[in-house]
Amino acid sequence: MSRDPSGALAEYRRRRDFSRTREPKGGRAAAGRDGAPSFVVQIHDATAMHFDFRLEVDGVLKSWAVPKGPSADPHDKRLAMPTEDHPLEYRGFEGVIAPGEYGAGTVIVWDEGTYRNLTADRAGREVPFAEALERGHASFRLDGRKLHGGYSLTRIRGGGEREAWLLVKHADGRARAGGTTDPRRARSAHSGHTLRQVAAGSAPGSSS
Ligand code: MN
Repeated sequence: MSRDPSGALAEYRRRRDFSRTREPKGGRAAAGRDGAPSFVVQIHDATAMHFDFRLEVDGVLKSWAVPKGPSADPHDKRLAMPTEDHPLEYRGFEGVIAPGEYGAGTVIVWDEGTYRNLTADRAGREVPFAEALERGHASFRLDGRKLHGGYSLTRIRGGGEREAWLLVKHADGRARAGGTTDPRRARSAHSGHTLRQVAAGSAPGSSS
């Protein structure tokens, strides 16, 4: 995961043919936006169903594929596999990625909102979020439509293709049991549509 904003989207673009996918190409990494950084969780019915968990950091969306999705139960340790940085505009992407293209399958926006960095060092000083991710542990509070409260991402395995993290809910006032979402029943935070409805064309593939 590059910390160089200008080069951060090279991998994203290398994997895609923008004449064949309606996913956003993304402009220059957006720097210096005011306000709380955003997060989005998409459900992606690809070769294997998964959730894509994305946090805005330094003008791009740092991204992890979470096979079982985020859980509101602190006992659930959800495997999160890092994927390439995505452009900020990807927050709004919902639609069908054509067969044969990278990530072919249906995408819905399941949750979206903002987050706040909770990562602190031993002395209680805030660790900048990008630095926390580089070090392999970041804590943050989500303020979404569905997800709320503290979560942590912790790298449990390094090493390129095999890099793995865990996404775990903090035991705070927003924790609850039974925090698992059935991706096939879940509805888009944008359109209210299910994956099946989006795939059937009841919602246009767009980034609006
Ligand atoms: Mn995905």
